[in-house]
Amino acid sequence: MWKEKQLHLPLQRTAQKPTKMNDNNAQLNESFRDKVATVDEKGKRIWVYPQKPQGKFYNARTWLSIVYFILFFTLPFIKVNGHPLFLINVIERRFILFGQIFWPQDFFIFGLGMVLFVVFVALFTVVFGRLFCGWICPQTIFMEMVFRKIEYFIEGNAAEQKILAKAQWNTDKIFKKSAKWISFWALSFLISNTFLAYVIGIDELRKVVVDPLNKHVGGFAAILIFTTVFFFVFAWMREQVCTTICPYGRLQGVLLDRNSIVVAYDHERGEQRGKFNKKETRTIGDCIDCHQCVKVCPTGIDIRNGTQLECINCTACIDACNKMMEAVNLPTGLIRYASEANISDKKKTTFTGRMKAYSAVMAVLLIAESFLLVSRTDVGITILRTPGQLYQKQPNHQLSNLYNYKLLNKTYQEMNLHFEPENFKGRIELVGEKNLKVPKGGDLTGSLFVYMDSTDIRHTETDIKIGVWQDGKKIKIVNTSFLGPFTEY
Ligand code: SF4
Ligand code: SF4
Repeated sequence: MWKEKQLHLPLQRTAQKPTKMNDNNAQLNESFRDKVATVDEKGKRIWVYPQKPQGKFYNARTWLSIVYFILFFTLPFIKVNGHPLFLINVIERRFILFGQIFWPQDFFIFGLGMVLFVVFVALFTVVFGRLFCGWICPQTIFMEMVFRKIEYFIEGNAAEQKILAKAQWNTDKIFKKSAKWISFWALSFLISNTFLAYVIGIDELRKVVVDPLNKHVGGFAAILIFTTVFFFVFAWMREQVCTTICPYGRLQGVLLDRNSIVVAYDHERGEQRGKFNKKETRTIGDCIDCHQCVKVCPTGIDIRNGTQLECINCTACIDACNKMMEAVNLPTGLIRYASEANISDKKKTTFTGRMKAYSAVMAVLLIAESFLLVSRTDVGITILRTPGQLYQKQPNHQLSNLYNYKLLNKTYQEMNLHFEPENFKGRIELVGEKNLKVPKGGDLTGSLFVYMDSTDIRHTETDIKIGVWQDGKKIKIVNTSFLGPFTEY
């Protein structure tokens, strides 16, 4: 079953061209397919102790993660005109993006946005592989840039962590483990609170924190549940999230092709691998078989086996290999961002037919999404004839129809609206209401009568238009119909 572990790309040239290698290596290259790097023969998890990476990619990722954390932890506090800049309140189905309120009625925009996002992810992956996983994914960023760094700080580097794990419980171990787990729990608590702030808003969160517990049992329970989940993910699940749970990782096999740019080992240059001996002129490949790329890998794989679904493109092996190449005076870039076509055929990256097709779909969806966003109005209006009602005869040869209306105010200001006949002679009368005051961010529902002279009715169903006005300005025209008798009145 594990034979499917490696993505079947030609990148596994080390396995495909055993003639280039000695028998032992050929054997090794095939054996990795039989198991997951983090599971032993008995099915037990192999805990990964990656060495701390050092290098320009790691530094760049550190700086990017700082920007990321600043954004993540400050965005819920930012308000525009007293309202959150972002709110993803799935419970009350209230969404605010860049200060704009989106209602359930706007969900088609979200729906299309989601389709766009999925197509974008597919296209992006075809071209750039799992770049997202290494540089943007919150799981990787929090794991590698926060939790792992705390672990290095408290428990030391990989070798020290291993020794500590095997050591008997003593004061030092109790202190270090407690310090780590308390820090992890505190951080998970902070992430949980921030996460909740995106859902219920910072003001509600403040109430949950400040008010007596019995007033916000649900909110408090949510904080505890999220904290536990985050703690479990970052303290125990770790790379298993990427290698066994994340659906995106599992999709790599169908999304990547020979032209996808991934973190790749240059097997053409590296093989036949062999130890470095400074006294000898090197006649074999450039890989000095130092295993540094394996030691830093947070998912425990050997990138020299080719592109594998466990690889989250974190670039740690690039940094590690470059450091070794510099140390032995060989060119860097033995492991680098490259496609199989780049490496095997020495080809430049081309815009393939698949990429063109994805781009075309992307362009169409982007245009559609932009149109929906631009044409989105601040007010949602529905006027529908009341079900089960025909027409009513009124004095003075008049007929009336009853309608239900629903007005939705998507702004932060109260709206004063009124209805006017648009293409018919007659009048509109609200039932029970004098004014149409729609509260900010709220809705107003009610009924209205449309009156028309029977002499103006020529059909059993007449198309009519109702104008919706706000502060002397017509903001929308609603189409509906007026029912009359079958015969001329
Ligand atoms: S193989 Fe390299 S890029 Fe992939 S996860 Fe391991 S260290 Fe990161
Ligand atoms: S770090 Fe580079 S040189 Fe060392 S084993 Fe990995 S690929 Fe070979």
